[in-house]
Amino acid sequence: MGTVTFSDGTQVPALGMGTWNLGDRADRRAQEIESLRAGLDLGLRVVDTAEMYGAGRSETLVGQAIAGRRDDVFLVTKVLPSNASRRGVAESCRASLRRLGTERIDLYLLHWPGAVPLEETVEGFERLKDEGLIGAWGVSNFDVDDMADLRRVSSPGDCLANQILYSLDYRGVEYDLLDDDRGQGVVTMAYSPLGQGGELLRAPVLARIAARHETALGPATPAQVALAWVLRQPNLLAIPKAASLPHQRENVAAADIVLTEADLAAIDRSMPPPRRKVPLAMI
Ligand code: NDP
Repeated sequence: MGTVTFSDGTQVPALGMGTWNLGDRADRRAQEIESLRAGLDLGLRVVDTAEMYGAGRSETLVGQAIAGRRDDVFLVTKVLPSNASRRGVAESCRASLRRLGTERIDLYLLHWPGAVPLEETVEGFERLKDEGLIGAWGVSNFDVDDMADLRRVSSPGDCLANQILYSLDYRGVEYDLLDDDRGQGVVTMAYSPLGQGGELLRAPVLARIAARHETALGPATPAQVALAWVLRQPNLLAIPKAASLPHQRENVAAADIVLTEADLAAIDRSMPPPRRKVPLAMI
């Protein structure tokens, strides 16, 4: 599996685990925890959550899943823009730490650009870093102009990541944002890389390509092709959500699929790359 290196030198596997909607249903809890633990057992490290997800329920579930094995995990969570003031960031961070059952968040993200001046949020993040409550910080849902605003109020290398929507049905960021992030040494984290398990996975082109690939688990699936396609980008981290063991295993196996030039060309014909600027989409 490929790896991603952040600007502070930290290296993690390029495939991580999303957790939106996990922890919402008591009857699925055990299976969701099993899925996250299996991901760690299979070598994944990045777990992505947010204070927003289920109003803290996702963080609580993650805390349970990683109990006793904190060092296996690169833990990412997010503060809501409405809590992103100097004081709000500090309060939200402490609340997240309590739910996660840990003393440190590895990467703390601003969930999307909001009304609080960015310099305040950055100051709050830097203070948390000084206190050792977070290892590093980043942003989410920031387009090229938002990243330019951020550069005006932060030092180069301080923002580790920009978590954005990137999948075969949202290719707009290929026009500018992926290169912009890369040029600034900011790791792109691709969220909803499986199109949230919807229409995308029924695209005939993915079925045709899947039929040409084998994985450690047997014939490839359209979801695996969609994930391998996102992971083809250098130094990019993808965070699909898998609520069950079979999906988690499939996603890990997908990280070893190497798409051919012919596969990529077939995808481009069916789902073309952008030809002009497309404002960043957000889910
Ligand atoms: P994904 O694109 O990851 O899709 C998740 C869906 O795909 C679920 O229905 C899941 O089913 C299904 N799935 C997972 N693996 C497979 C597989 N191998 N084969 C078939 N279906 C599969 O959508 P998300 O929106 O969850 O995005 C991933 C993560 O990104 C989130 O969980 C969250 O952590 C983050 N995110 C961040 C946002 C932000 O604003 N920063 C916004 C949205 C997401 P099942 O659950 O049954 O396994």
